[in-house]
Amino acid sequence: MSEPVLEISGLRKYFDVDRSRGGGKVYAVDGVDLSIGPGEMVGLVGESGSGKSTVGKCVVRLLEPTAGSIKIHGRDVTHLRQRSLRHLRRQVHMVFQDPHSSLNPRMQVGAVVAEPLRMHRIARGKDLTRRVDEMLERVGLGPEMRSRYPHELSGGQRQRVGLARSLVLEPSLLIADEPVSALDVSVQASIINLLLDLQRDMGFSCLFIAHDLAAVEFLCNRVAVMYLGRIVEESSREELFKHPRHPYSQSLLSAIPLPDPPVQRERKRVVLTGDIPSPVNPPSGCHFHTRCPVAELPLCRDRDPELIAHHGQGHRTACHLVHADGTAPDITKGAGPLVHHET
Ligand code: SF4
Repeated sequence: MSEPVLEISGLRKYFDVDRSRGGGKVYAVDGVDLSIGPGEMVGLVGESGSGKSTVGKCVVRLLEPTAGSIKIHGRDVTHLRQRSLRHLRRQVHMVFQDPHSSLNPRMQVGAVVAEPLRMHRIARGKDLTRRVDEMLERVGLGPEMRSRYPHELSGGQRQRVGLARSLVLEPSLLIADEPVSALDVSVQASIINLLLDLQRDMGFSCLFIAHDLAAVEFLCNRVAVMYLGRIVEESSREELFKHPRHPYSQSLLSAIPLPDPPVQRERKRVVLTGDIPSPVNPPSGCHFHTRCPVAELPLCRDRDPELIAHHGQGHRTACHLVHADGTAPDITKGAGPLVHHET
């Protein structure tokens, strides 16, 4: 198997809480393992507050990890100093949720897209202009856009500029942090299609952070589900969308209508009660036990389930009730019997 482009092991990111607010720590990311292979699109999903954006920001080193390791192409970049970060910045780029605030309002589009090429001294003069125009064309914008300012663009055009800036150095890894959630529904699909075309064309790997499961199903090869700082389930897209094992993943997916009417009729939507608990004081044992419809006490409250592989190598779940053969409780058919899914 080829070497992973990104390999995250035991990643933790804790933030200190101000003493005036009671002190303590926010356990934003609390032991995440994840790898992404060449050309893979991996979706990282979960409610707000699950820690998924913090994982992305640690990878591009906008945040300093508290513990764990991050390797890019086998090189440990976890604690790189500022000078060595230059090399990382060529290989890994991030595209942000809000294209309005992520673009400098005083810079013309041409200067925004040219900035990474200038900073890394890759092109100048006519060559620079040519590369900027090529990149703009790749994201569906004409060369006339070069002289525009961000406030003159629509939300969709601004996100295209954000993608052009992130991809102009042809990075091997793109971290896309909710890239369409701030856009009108009418333009979300065009940006998602564009991202898929660019990925196929340029071959980069991508960590796609999202709460829109339909977009993840459309784009990603593999999916990891996060809850309160931890990955609770990870598998191929097909496996996860057809046979989610973890009760939290099942509740998230139960909100998506199935294209098969008889199966859809049998399934009930599971609405979790209460908000995601505070990462300052996460519940003991399985973090999900305070909201899980099938929690078994005291087991789930007292013991932390490990993320273990079952039912083939690629599917991992952190739940005491998921067995080695993949048998799991199906909360969409009532909390009672264990159901074995054939794959
Ligand atoms: Fe629910 Fe227990 Fe499984 Fe956690 S370990 S998801 S509380 S059944």
